[in-house]
Amino acid sequence: MQSLTVEKLRVPTHLEFADAHCHLNLFQDPQETVRKAREKGIGTIITAGGSAKDNFECIKIAEREHIFTVIGIGPDFATSDSGYVVEIEGLIRNSMKIVGIGEVGIDVKVADKNDIGLQKELFAKQAEIARRLDMPVVIHSRGALDEVARILAETHVEKALFHFFEGDETQALELAKKGYFISIPPALTGKRKRIIKEVSLSNLVAETDSPIVGETPADVIGVCETIAELKGVSLEEVAAKTTENIRRLFYI
Ligand SMILES: [Zn+2]
Repeated sequence: MQSLTVEKLRVPTHLEFADAHCHLNLFQDPQETVRKAREKGIGTIITAGGSAKDNFECIKIAEREHIFTVIGIGPDFATSDSGYVVEIEGLIRNSMKIVGIGEVGIDVKVADKNDIGLQKELFAKQAEIARRLDMPVVIHSRGALDEVARILAETHVEKALFHFFEGDETQALELAKKGYFISIPPALTGKRKRIIKEVSLSNLVAETDSPIVGETPADVIGVCETIAELKGVSLEEVAAKTTENIRRLFYI
């Protein structure tokens, strides 16, 4: 009994946070990463695939841990892995742990290796699958926000999360108006700070993109602290609202 109390006091916060986007399969020990994140209060974790190999690994981790995954073929793998797309629907139908399609989209930076036409086609195909299954899409967009938004509108995708949002506050507000979610990473530029101030908390989520950008999913706490500060609300409110947004978006 005594040790339980001591253990409890060591937990820094009673709050529960949610990391909207990370890459657990890129950690050396995903299980340990999840365990440590839990200790810090990260309750909800969405890991993201993007290639056939990443998807496979993410599904395995999601089945083993109490976390969820999205799968898809991102722009980086448009040439090598586009054949995988036919498998997505079946995989989703057979798993309770795959909760969306991602990260998918358009990236002008990799256009030399992966033709933009091919990227668009692949993205549109996956958006179609998402709409058919009524699943959210996790977007990776670099230099292609308007085109991504156009394809989402054309395919009638109603649920989308813009991972590592690259646009400005006007674009963010437009997307939020459509019911899409803007995901804030631990890279807080002036532009992102303006987005945080302008966009309603009902359309914001926090992510780490760890281990690529953040170090661990627990870094989402820092993102939430900044959101709370900039919006002039409590950390409790940001933790609760961003968690609720993610759960609502992914039906979890
Ligand atoms: Zn990512």
